[in-house]
Amino acid sequence: MPVLGDFEILRVNQNPYWWDGGALFGVVPKTLWNRKIPADELNRIPLALNCYLIRSGSHNILIETGLGDKRDARERERMRLPAVTESLPAAIAGLGIDPETIDIVINSHLHWDHCSGNTILRGENVEPAFPRARYYAPRGEWEHSNERSLRDAVAYIGANYDPLVESGQMTLVESDYEVLPGIWMRMAPGHTRDMMVVTAESAGETFCFLSDLVPTIAHLPPTWVTAFDLYPLETIVNKVKWLGAAVEGNWLCGFGHDAVAFARVATDARKQFTAVEV
Ligand SMILES: [Zn+2]
Repeated sequence: MPVLGDFEILRVNQNPYWWDGGALFGVVPKTLWNRKIPADELNRIPLALNCYLIRSGSHNILIETGLGDKRDARERERMRLPAVTESLPAAIAGLGIDPETIDIVINSHLHWDHCSGNTILRGENVEPAFPRARYYAPRGEWEHSNERSLRDAVAYIGANYDPLVESGQMTLVESDYEVLPGIWMRMAPGHTRDMMVVTAESAGETFCFLSDLVPTIAHLPPTWVTAFDLYPLETIVNKVKWLGAAVEGNWLCGFGHDAVAFARVATDARKQFTAVEV
């Protein structure tokens, strides 16, 4: 488990889900991406649902909440998910941490695969999965999700956040925001207008959760952008900016969907970004 100054950082690992490889790599030819992440017979590739837990001594901060319990049997089969998967609180308990001690939950954006574990369905009711926690998400994401755009309404499930906004348990953040000393949500548009990355800085070291700006290590080349991205040209600009900073500062990085939990980023002889697994 990496330790950065005052912070211990853990990846919470749950089942991967499988999604169309073409959707993940946009205009990149399959002959190139399939060498990095081989597809199955239905052209699907495995994607981790990465959540990260930062322990500061006084706070337990959860970044992203992953899969949750709101996809039906047909959707789960399509994603090669078992009918029942361990809940996120159970996965956290499995790491020896009481899930009731999570007091901050941060969503980088509100696509269902990043925040469906925010809440739990109990019959007709939706309850917070982390009752003691204050939740944070980008305000623009919440507004966009409620516009129900033809392009991407399917990516948003209101039950993951609307009840938390209504009850006042979720704070909607409008720009770069320091959640706790050293822990920042920072605007990194491209994948969506308001997606944020999360940085944790302590004792001169930085952890950066890159979310869907760089969903996997295979997405390190700036032009390898997913077909989901609403503003691909901004994604490219922001990848150069954030990965450049990661190289410069020798940051520890976490990715939205890679099987690898932690990597540092370097540049090779051809000035291409490469990952150095930790
Ligand atoms: Zn996303």
